[in-house]
Amino acid sequence: MPRKVCLVSYHEIALKGKNRRRFEDALLRNLRAALSGFRVAKLERFQGRILCESEDESQVGDIAAAAAKVPGVARVAIAWQGPRTEEAFAEAAILAMRESEHFRTFKVHAKKSNTDYAEHTLDINRSVGAALCAAFPEKIVQMHDPDVTITVNIVGGQSYVFGEGMRGAGGLPVGTAGKVVSLLSSGFDSPVASWMVGRRGACVCPVHFSGRPVTSDASEWLVQDILQALKPYGLVGRLYVVPFGEIQRKMALEGPPDLRVILYRRAMIAIAERVAELEGAKALVTGESLGQVASQTLDNIRATNDAVRTLPILRPLIGSDKVEIIDRAREIGTFDLSSEKAPDCCTLFMPRRPETHARLDVVRRAWEALDPDELVEEGFSALEYVDIEGCPSYKPPCALSERHATLAPAAWKVRGDARGE
Ligand code: ATP
Ligand code: MG
Repeated sequence: MPRKVCLVSYHEIALKGKNRRRFEDALLRNLRAALSGFRVAKLERFQGRILCESEDESQVGDIAAAAAKVPGVARVAIAWQGPRTEEAFAEAAILAMRESEHFRTFKVHAKKSNTDYAEHTLDINRSVGAALCAAFPEKIVQMHDPDVTITVNIVGGQSYVFGEGMRGAGGLPVGTAGKVVSLLSSGFDSPVASWMVGRRGACVCPVHFSGRPVTSDASEWLVQDILQALKPYGLVGRLYVVPFGEIQRKMALEGPPDLRVILYRRAMIAIAERVAELEGAKALVTGESLGQVASQTLDNIRATNDAVRTLPILRPLIGSDKVEIIDRAREIGTFDLSSEKAPDCCTLFMPRRPETHARLDVVRRAWEALDPDELVEEGFSALEYVDIEGCPSYKPPCALSERHATLAPAAWKVRGDARGE
């Protein structure tokens, strides 16, 4: 009986050139972390792919599903490893074909590398194809653009036989694009936005603005649950929480009511930028989508954006419809949690009629009147954090670790750790 293993493939085009080694190393490291709960016996580069073997073959299906979630993985196939005999190829090809679903046409593609195996690949194609036709009489051989290609790869003294496998997350290995700070609420949008930049190789440090002490801390727990749901993707390093209730109260008392939402957002962005400086992150990320709510008109986005000093703000969802965002939230496993309601700072001190087309000069005047440097410093110095497991590319800012320790009250750390149990 051939042995069941896993073959992970990645987007070769993105990984070509002199960066290839670095990308492969990052992918291997991230896969190792994502599969740490399984009995993995071997995880190594193999013929332009990554080979994963388990001590327990019954885990291979679950290992494949977990590997498919890791950013940078294009496809994951279950492969059958066996001897170099025609009977073994045929037996493995039948097993590989059974793994494939909903297809009509197929072909066999034999390859040989570093082997003294004498038979020509065309002959292997023919004999394995004949065995498959006999086992699956309803399937049709098609040489050009078949639904499924069964690959027979003879490497050294062994053979690996596999079909199309399942689609992976795509994108690039987390960590290869550097760090970002993502403004994370417990709504649908920002977890999806964070996942999207993580899938493009960014290591994400979310900042959540809680309404504490004016509201409960429920949103902080909900956000942590959302980050647990995102854990299989290995893209979140450390969560920062800013107790924002008092800051908002001050802004609500002193600022014009119709501009409150924009002023809150400006404060969030300015504090997040400070966190990004602390972390060495190169961009901020939000879940904004054009026109979705009053604060997301072009005028208001401009008036908010003005609060950032140097960093770009990435808005991966700017052109997405809500239904598309919700579909993605379901796919990545955050939908149910984001459906839960927890009061956060967004529910606090909301004006009855928010400005939908703010003028930049008016907003700037209102902002300057609030003594923004002090507000931002107040938020930044109240910062708390908890590390999220499973993101091996995350490196805490070592030069600032002393400062960090003073920023993180032990109580939050302990509560965060207790949650992770
Ligand atoms: P979401 O579903 O992400 O909450 P939303 O549709 O509720 O988005 P807004 O409330 O206008 O939209 O928020 C726009 C963006 O501002 C969010 O996507 C998020 O990036 C950021 N944001 C809003 N509230 C918070 C918060 N409490 N903490 C951190 N970021 C926030
Ligand atoms: Mg929101």
